Amino acid sequence: MIDLDKINLALFDLDGTLIPFPRDFLFEQTFEVFRELNIEPVSRNEMMAHFAKFDFFGMIDAEIRDTFMEKYWSRFQWNSYPQFMPIDGVLESLALLKRRGVKLAIVTSRAESREEVAENISNTGLLSYIDHIETRSSVPEGGSSDANWSDKTPQIREACQLFSVAPSEAIMAGDVPPDISSGKRENISKTIALLSGGIRSEILKEADPDYLLSSLADLSQVVS
Ligand SMILES: [Mg+2]
Repeated sequence: MIDLDKINLALFDLDGTLIPFPRDFLFEQTFEVFRELNIEPVSRNEMMAHFAKFDFFGMIDAEIRDTFMEKYWSRFQWNSYPQFMPIDGVLESLALLKRRGVKLAIVTSRAESREEVAENISNTGLLSYIDHIETRSSVPEGGSSDANWSDKTPQIREACQLFSVAPSEAIMAGDVPPDISSGKRENISKTIALLSGGIRSEILKEADPDYLLSSLADLSQVVS
């Protein structure tokens, strides 16, 4: 169990963790890239399979993968990002943490400003609980590979520093393996992997999270 008396900061991924992952939107963006590059698109089923393995761009032939990904991210329409309501039970779990005096922050890979992310989730009710949002401000250094893009160590470090909280007094929850591995790399005390983003449990387990839950709604099962 996670003893909340010893936890001062909870870090959350956003998409797939607090709100549903916008899979259809990302698939649409992907089909656009196929069209623009004049490549025969893969089937939606194949896209789904690669998505669930957290190997999305693995569906693209290796010879053109870099070109494809560069195109994908350079034309990505952040301002069309869909708006969602929170995943069922998420607000209740955030409320539980707040009652125990835990600060709450979003650490997201979205390459927008925190004001843009706040605007995008302004109708969700999340902002009454969230104390801070840490985003990725641009395409990551070292290129836009999946690994670079999903790494959250900079955002985790920033958030801990902002609240003057040691990683050992923080927890991190997310729906993709890099949420977990980034937390572990930064010595976050407990990591929680969630199935709510659509990634298969075997894939999430490879990142060795302390807990694996169906969604954040189940947080009360692992805290005391
Ligand atoms: Mg996510």
